[in-house]
Amino acid sequence: MRIILLGSPGSGKGTQASMIISKYAIPHISTGDMFRKNIKSGNELGIEAKKYIDMGLLVPDDLTLGMIGDRFLESDCQNGFLLDGFPRTLIQAEALGEELKRAGKNLTAVVNLEVNDDVIASRMTGRRVCSKCGANYNLVFNKPQEEDICDKCHGQLITRDDDKLATVINRLQVYKNETQPLIDYYKGKGILVTVNGEQDAEIVFNNICSTLEKVR
Ligand code: ADP
Ligand code: AMP
Repeated sequence: MRIILLGSPGSGKGTQASMIISKYAIPHISTGDMFRKNIKSGNELGIEAKKYIDMGLLVPDDLTLGMIGDRFLESDCQNGFLLDGFPRTLIQAEALGEELKRAGKNLTAVVNLEVNDDVIASRMTGRRVCSKCGANYNLVFNKPQEEDICDKCHGQLITRDDDKLATVINRLQVYKNETQPLIDYYKGKGILVTVNGEQDAEIVFNNICSTLEKVR
């Protein structure tokens, strides 16, 4: 199962990814998480990427492609992978396609999570993430048991720097300009499936799974 999760920031990709990878036993490859790890470690890539991320812009393709390399061909990807937040531009999509072609592999499906902008804004300003294990919460939809404390590891919950309203508005515009064209790109390849991402996360997950079962 080789899957791409496509959708605007806050559409629920990370939330769905954690459920999908445990059902299908495939690795979760998130370029956003990879950038955040580099930022945390304070290396050169992290310092450079942070400039773009904090402004709500995409990190340039050369840096993103250099970071992801052929991660999706590593040994833990024998049974497939789930890509979350990559590709985000046509150049990245073409590069991914070329790498997979060279390795004689195909994408199983591109799952497009559809969520309206007004819903996105309320989800993103309410998003809290664990500073220790990265688990995802929401002040409205998925509250932690104890305020600001992770249920899983008791780490401190924080607001991502790029979840401030002004940055969210930029990110939505960037998504429309640079990432939305991938919907038609993958539709043209006949592998796009669209799921209503506005429903309860469990319902979205069940809909994704039944769609995947049909195409696998
Ligand atoms: P993405 O990875 O696409 O940016 P996330 O999975 O981080 O999105 O979700 C954004 C926010 O919305 C999080 O706070 C998450 O808890 C919440 N969320 C995700 N899916 C749903 C859903 N189906 N209904 C309500 N809230 C959701
Ligand atoms: P995410 O956690 O997927 O929402 O990503 C957070 C931020 O990291 C994005 O707003 C971008 O600035 C950057 N980023 C993540 N993935 C990519 C990518 N594939 N291409 C360019 N920038 C990316």
